Amino acid sequence: MTDNGNPLLQDWQTPYQLPPFQQIQCEHFAPAFAVLFEQHLAEIDALAENQATPTFANTVAAFDAAGATIDRVRLTFENLCASESPAALQAVEREMAPLLAAHDSKVAMHAGFFARLDAVHQQAAVLDLSEEQQRLLQRMHTDFVRTGAKLQGFDRERFAAIASRLADLQTQFAQNILADESSYQLPLTSEVDLAGLPDFLRQSARSAAKERGLEGYVITLSRSLVQPFLTWSTRRDLRETAWCAWTSRGENPARDNRPIAREILMLRQEQAHLLGYENFADYALADRMAGSASAVHALLSQVWEPAKASVEQERQALAAQAAALGEPADIEPWDWYYLAEKVRVARYELDDAQVKPYFSLDAMLAAMFDCAERLFKLQFVEQTSVSLYHPDVRLWEVRRGAEQVGIFLGDNYARPNKQGGAWMHVYRKQRRHGGKVTPIVVNNNNFARTDDGPTLLSFDDVRTLFHEFGHGLHGLLSDVNYGRLSGTNVPQDYVELPSQLMENWATVPEVLAKHARHVSTGEPIPAELIERIRASQTFNQGFQTVAYTSSALIDMALHLRNDLDGIDIARFEVAERERLGVPREVGMRHRLPHFGHIFSGGYYAAGYYVYMWAEVLEADAFDAFEEAGNAFDPALADKLHRYVYSAGDSREQGSAFRAFRGRDPRAEPMLRKRGLLRTE
Ligand SMILES: [Zn+2]
Repeated sequence: MTDNGNPLLQDWQTPYQLPPFQQIQCEHFAPAFAVLFEQHLAEIDALAENQATPTFANTVAAFDAAGATIDRVRLTFENLCASESPAALQAVEREMAPLLAAHDSKVAMHAGFFARLDAVHQQAAVLDLSEEQQRLLQRMHTDFVRTGAKLQGFDRERFAAIASRLADLQTQFAQNILADESSYQLPLTSEVDLAGLPDFLRQSARSAAKERGLEGYVITLSRSLVQPFLTWSTRRDLRETAWCAWTSRGENPARDNRPIAREILMLRQEQAHLLGYENFADYALADRMAGSASAVHALLSQVWEPAKASVEQERQALAAQAAALGEPADIEPWDWYYLAEKVRVARYELDDAQVKPYFSLDAMLAAMFDCAERLFKLQFVEQTSVSLYHPDVRLWEVRRGAEQVGIFLGDNYARPNKQGGAWMHVYRKQRRHGGKVTPIVVNNNNFARTDDGPTLLSFDDVRTLFHEFGHGLHGLLSDVNYGRLSGTNVPQDYVELPSQLMENWATVPEVLAKHARHVSTGEPIPAELIERIRASQTFNQGFQTVAYTSSALIDMALHLRNDLDGIDIARFEVAERERLGVPREVGMRHRLPHFGHIFSGGYYAAGYYVYMWAEVLEADAFDAFEEAGNAFDPALADKLHRYVYSAGDSREQGSAFRAFRGRDPRAEPMLRKRGLLRTE
């Protein structure tokens, strides 16, 4: 193999074997992948053609180790496409997407290799394997079966054709939403139209106008513009206009998502049938911690009635607020955000100008590292001499005493070439088999950089910082033998446990008293301000819970349905809302024609519930620390480390949770946290 000077194909003689960012150019990726695809397939062909009897070592462990070279380039590519992606790299990303998918499909449908894997699997019971090896064998076999490896003849071809058609339809669905969002504009032409809007929103509306070559201000249908507009605009008529446009995304006759969604649903059902499941929900749930649709319903139904009761109380408070403002008492969906904000400000007297000076980014980084040291004995030591892909990015060596555990990168600022939102990813995942490999983890946020002085965060930003750090620790503390079982590679309804759990430490009074210090005076945050921040966390939770849970219930109902012929998802949604008794003034978090979570890809299909599932685990797990009366209880921290943060997918999640908590999870702590636990 010749590398033609392509740095992606060479040995990385860099600090920590990081990618050689300074040498990598966009045009290096396509030729590198061409070589690496072949190399990876050759590795698997060799495993398949092995004449020796299939064993765990020559088949299962060997497959897990194959592909380390392609992984390192693929992870670099994914990270750069998300964090630092100029137009040229975006073009490469579009060009590579179908090629990467085709490669994955060749691996997943490799008949020769699967025959050997299946042979090992059939002997699983009599093989002398460790618990982790058994787990790897089961997970790997399941992965192959679920992507159609067992199918023969026509079924096999049909399954592959469906997968490819689904990829097209899902992309189309997402692009239609994007087109609806970017083509819409609500111009605000005079001071009267801007009534109530805070400065930051005026600035964003002005930038949105400029981007479109317009004078003045416009509101588009991007969530970051329309949601604040609905929160602050005092113009009820304009709120109604914006609301109606926002909630009818995906129904534009020129690019109607309803027939696309119908075809997606029918194809998913056919896929499920081919694999022997009654419907798509059964297929999706079989590979999650919940295990069945009835387990999901059991959880959601515990939340549903108390949440509706809370909405009624919240509605009354909003109606009183409307009366005080001289607004009509019959609250419409476009009034809820606006009135709720007025009630929130009056009730908790929290405004950003008062709160933010206590939460500088540097102080909060120190706070989260301090928590990781007290819980998991980790030290984060910053190294400033390594050049990365952008000067914003910081690097910490993560140590436990003399041992180097991994590398942590923090990329915290918004940039034009960076995706929105916050996420964690890896450049290298932890494993031990075949030589110890330590993880390289990155956390991304999109905080606004301030030119003068330190970056100040809202309390929501602080939670986000801790959330991503929780995913980061899940990657860093991973301590397993095999890559397939490493770090965050766990079922969707479990992966948010380590992250949501970490958010709790951001509200621990002793953490805030130590680290949340006023940026100019150094004074610790007043205890009563901490109390108000903590109290405000349950505000409006009836509304939030109903909006979320109605979407989760409708997602399940849709994917459990067997009769999909001619289904109109918009009508289905109306009928389901009626049946569930969703209060009319609460809009759904996502209406079906633009429910990208479930139609722009398959990951959250029959899976929008996963956030709440993980929240049950998280709230119950943190409750153990509250019961102990110590947020850093050493014995609990030790179990949390062993059974949750370091375990990856090396044991079944229910059993891992029981090992930590001593029993099955209970929903009460989650209900209490949301303010939904009523004593009759
Ligand atoms: Zn997360």
